[in-house]
Amino acid sequence: MRSPSSFVLVATLLVSALACTSADRAPVVDDARLVAANTDSANWLTYGRTYDEQRFSPLRQVNDSTITTLGLVWSHDLPTTRALEATPLVIDGTLYTTGSWSVVYAYDAATGKALWTYDPKVDRKVARFVCCDVVNRGLAAYKGKLFLGTLDGRLVALSAKTGIPVWDVSTVDRNKPYAISGAPRIAMGRVLIGNAGAEFGVRGYLSAYDTETGAMAWRVYTVPGDPSKPFESKAMEVAAKTWQGDALKTGGGGTTWDPIVYDPELGLVYFGTGNGTAWYRDLRGGGDNLYVASILAVKAETGEQVWHYQVTPGDNWDFDADQPIMLATLTVAGAPRKVLMQASKNGFFYVIDRATGQFISGTQFVEGVTWATGIDSVTGRPIESKVGYDGMKPVLSGPDNSGAHNWNPISMDPARGLVFLGARNNSVEVHAPDKNFKYDAKEANLGKDNTYAGPLWAKFLATVARGELVAWNPVERKAAWRVVLPSGQSGGTLATAGNLVMQGAADGMLRAFRGADGTKLWEFDAGTGIMAPPVTYLAGGKQYVTVMVGWGGPSGHVNQPTNGLTKPGFGRILTFALGGTAKIVVPPYGHKEPPVPALPVTATSEQVAMGNVLYNKFCLRCHGVAAVAGPVPDLRYSSAATHAMLDSIVLGGARAQLGMPSFKDLLDTTKLHLIQQYVLSQAAAASSAAKH
Ligand code: CA
Repeated sequence: MRSPSSFVLVATLLVSALACTSADRAPVVDDARLVAANTDSANWLTYGRTYDEQRFSPLRQVNDSTITTLGLVWSHDLPTTRALEATPLVIDGTLYTTGSWSVVYAYDAATGKALWTYDPKVDRKVARFVCCDVVNRGLAAYKGKLFLGTLDGRLVALSAKTGIPVWDVSTVDRNKPYAISGAPRIAMGRVLIGNAGAEFGVRGYLSAYDTETGAMAWRVYTVPGDPSKPFESKAMEVAAKTWQGDALKTGGGGTTWDPIVYDPELGLVYFGTGNGTAWYRDLRGGGDNLYVASILAVKAETGEQVWHYQVTPGDNWDFDADQPIMLATLTVAGAPRKVLMQASKNGFFYVIDRATGQFISGTQFVEGVTWATGIDSVTGRPIESKVGYDGMKPVLSGPDNSGAHNWNPISMDPARGLVFLGARNNSVEVHAPDKNFKYDAKEANLGKDNTYAGPLWAKFLATVARGELVAWNPVERKAAWRVVLPSGQSGGTLATAGNLVMQGAADGMLRAFRGADGTKLWEFDAGTGIMAPPVTYLAGGKQYVTVMVGWGGPSGHVNQPTNGLTKPGFGRILTFALGGTAKIVVPPYGHKEPPVPALPVTATSEQVAMGNVLYNKFCLRCHGVAAVAGPVPDLRYSSAATHAMLDSIVLGGARAQLGMPSFKDLLDTTKLHLIQQYVLSQAAAASSAAKH
């Protein structure tokens, strides 16, 4: 009698044979293929290309000699003016990517022919409860399916061939302000996903779901839960001792909104956690607040915690530890070490032993780090400075909360031992905790004193962060080279065996640099600022480079000319190859002329100041610092007709389905009209400044 296992084997072989003869077979990415992704040079199978997330491509058709003929071969304009942050996946000739509101696009990777689009129909009202634009950073792929985290907290499995959903599960309590912006990852047949929402008051966690069924396999929390209930794990019991006060009652924060890295060698998953709720330590009762702003290692099989390293103990500056995590083997003090690396928002580049969590080094990689003078080489704890924190007293600290380096992916040339990252030097933040802070579930709970309008605010507005592409040597703990960029903010990076580093920037330029020394070799004007990382792949034996173009996100709210060159506009996807000659037509966006105020300012200067406080609290996050907007309408240019509709838009939700939710539960007509007077005063100020 035939045994069940041999029957399964025969059946499997039959299915494989059928699949291989089918011309339009669904792409199959399995565990073996993911582990060997580095040698699969044609494809980009997972977020960071390989499980070590080094974003290094072995391809060399496009190299430091041939790149002069690199040109556009196909492009698509996308229906958005918001940030595009995704890393496309490329699997056997098909390119998959994501855009605003978690929409998925599939294209023929060689020709750009649109194959299908999947819109998860995210309720636009969730825009109220996302900190940093309506973004999505990409997909995971496994055994014929794609996996998408949606802005409203769902995990959706799609057929890679058709884009039709296979299963769709909610990963969050929809009554709480959770969101998902990050890309899922695959480990041991499961799909891993975290979430965001620490600014609004949620409890962070990472979950693993069965890729076939969507059933949850495990969930691991990042901060302790309700103190009146038993701990879920020993790790939560340890963490609870580092919290005082009531911060945990509102969730605590510590959300895993970006990095999740699987290590098949050690069977571990490493992930980062974000800030606490509120941003400032003293408003959370003090203490280290484990595990906010930490890197955690758990067993991939069970989620059981193996080690933790808190990058910024008691995170007091919204530094998070959600920047990309990259794995490598480095020779440290003469011995090979399996490490993970992170270029933190806090301005230090970390090297950690990934088997044990032992701190190896933390080195300042930008200028203007004032919150700490260094990292203690024995304990791995930062040596905090009073310059960046003085209790409840406002201080100017650096880096700012967009960070010395944020979520933008980093890449590595393993032969040279260099890590390439976009850096921001000398950014500053008004660190002003609000002594009257009270948690409110209806709004963002930064705990920032929005009434502060002293000289530090003027210094903040006048500060220009200097953008750089940095080639960091993590062993020598110094930069091999630095390139100063025209814009403060730059995008994710790609490294290739063609001796190239490619990177876009906020000024809309996609650039290629020689990996050895940073010499600029090539550039292309993409028309709109770039934050996403380029990817490269083969289709029909030819090498292509693709990048998502779209400006906004956590940096999109700082659009004054003084804060560095930025270029908001319409989003697009661009693909290049040697000899490409296609062109893009960039539709006009934004305003060339100064605003002409639609209405006169009728309020007193005191009322305008009150409007400014309310604006900063409720509107700034999308409509920009000082009412200078990028990705969303610039309110200073609102017409008289729009002003006439103000109540129905802001209170009535008339434009909710365009992404402008109702604020009826937070504002009334009196407050709204104070905000209106502030916006009109900003329009008048810009108008009069232009005349002088
Ligand atoms: Ca944060």
